[in-house]
Amino acid sequence: MNFIPDGCSFHYLFEDKTSLICLIIILMFTLKKSEVLRMQYRYLDLRSPRMQYNLRLRSQMVMKMRVYLCSLHGFVDVETPTLFKRTPGGAKEFVVPTGDPGKFYSLPQSPQQFKQLLMVAGIDRYFQLARCYRDEGSKPDRQPEFTQVDIEISFVDQAGVMSLIEGLIHYSWPEDKGPINVPFPSMTYEEAMRDYGVDKPDTRFGMKLVDVTTAFQTTQIEFIKDALLKPGGCIQAICIPEGTNHLKCKDLEFLKQTAKTQYGQEVSVAPVRADGSLKSPLSRLLSDTAKQQLLQMAHANAGDLIFITAGPLENVRLLLGKLRLQCVELLECYGVPVRDPSVFHFLWVVDFPLFLPKEDDPEMLESAHHPFTAPVPEDAHLLYTQPHKVRGQHYDLVLNGCEIGGGSIRIHNASQQLYILDTILKEDPSLLSHLLEALDSGAPPHGGIALGLDRLVSIIVGAPSIRDVIAFPKSFRGHDIMSHAPDFVSEEDLKPYHISVVWPSAGQQDNSM
Ligand code: ASP
Repeated sequence: MNFIPDGCSFHYLFEDKTSLICLIIILMFTLKKSEVLRMQYRYLDLRSPRMQYNLRLRSQMVMKMRVYLCSLHGFVDVETPTLFKRTPGGAKEFVVPTGDPGKFYSLPQSPQQFKQLLMVAGIDRYFQLARCYRDEGSKPDRQPEFTQVDIEISFVDQAGVMSLIEGLIHYSWPEDKGPINVPFPSMTYEEAMRDYGVDKPDTRFGMKLVDVTTAFQTTQIEFIKDALLKPGGCIQAICIPEGTNHLKCKDLEFLKQTAKTQYGQEVSVAPVRADGSLKSPLSRLLSDTAKQQLLQMAHANAGDLIFITAGPLENVRLLLGKLRLQCVELLECYGVPVRDPSVFHFLWVVDFPLFLPKEDDPEMLESAHHPFTAPVPEDAHLLYTQPHKVRGQHYDLVLNGCEIGGGSIRIHNASQQLYILDTILKEDPSLLSHLLEALDSGAPPHGGIALGLDRLVSIIVGAPSIRDVIAFPKSFRGHDIMSHAPDFVSEEDLKPYHISVVWPSAGQQDNSM
């Protein structure tokens, strides 16, 4: 495949000298990484070979996905509304005013309800390139509007959805990116958290979390003794191979400081000397046997660096999962090639808990994904006694440590859906009465998935941000820098919506992009 414009198109692009000069200016700024300028003159930035390649590759992939789904597998492409109503739980949604006083539409965070309704309607294989909206602010792999390859199937199980997606990705994979192997490996949520400290592990490298609690069993070290006394207290470590040769003192200080300020956790760093002994204040407090045990458990050799932390299991995993990634980024900054940029590691993560404790109120439960996910059949009875122990029939697809898709087998029984919404999640079920009624009218068992198209393409082309595979993206703050959207609307124009603006006081105004 050759995505670079042919000679003729190039001639067209550059026949206007002013444009060419503009482009050169833009490219100069691009080299200086001025994303703002690139977005302001996006129509010029898009002329760059890199952006041309990205958009053309995206288009080719989408074309092949349509062929695979519609022509080869009998899917029906159905558009669903983007003016909708609030969905309980999940992301913050954008609202759209209407002429009905006090009434607003919400922009859907995904077509979840519609695709399930289509199953009730007998469209047994639905697909859509769906535009979704979440009012969550931008990150390199997130922006307020994004595109999902949205899929739903009747009479399917988890394995059926997973193999369809493997076939879809395999079929649409760009030839110039080399072959990929299917089926993709899979790992349970518990394994991912245990070994990598995250539910979307980057499996391109090791440095796994190891439990070293037993090496410290008889320790007199105060902070470790305290941590072990707490419920779920444990001691875990990660080992950075040859870390002492590359990571500098200032890096270690920075990592320790971040652990303290962002995660409230103490971290001990123990370099392994050339003779295999530990060079750390900790080592003075440990017996020789304990030191030996620690080195063995962490699989540490001369020149390696061991990071050790103690505390409740969730905190320890969260911190070490983050440290593992930060260390790899630092190593790569120093030119140590840990992850091969041309390698693509797909991974399914399965067996998620159906509910998690709410962050702001841990006594309450919230859906780990969304409230429509069905429990694993063997766990369904626990819904009524120990809902926190129920596993969901949910699966996430991870590529190189990024979640590029997620889906589930759905609840197709109205009374189970009502029980979960009302009794477990304490949500107002009347907001979903249309869905409950539809399920009650006879819904086939069904399940589906959504792939984040922007993320998938950005990883394939090796772009640092999803904005590099979207023609007209929003800025980091969710603004369109070229056209200055969002923009002011006059009081006159707001009148039909019964809205008037309450201006924040001078100090609170934020005019940044
Ligand atoms: N609607 C879900 C999401 O956007 C995907 C799915 O469950 O199919 O994450």
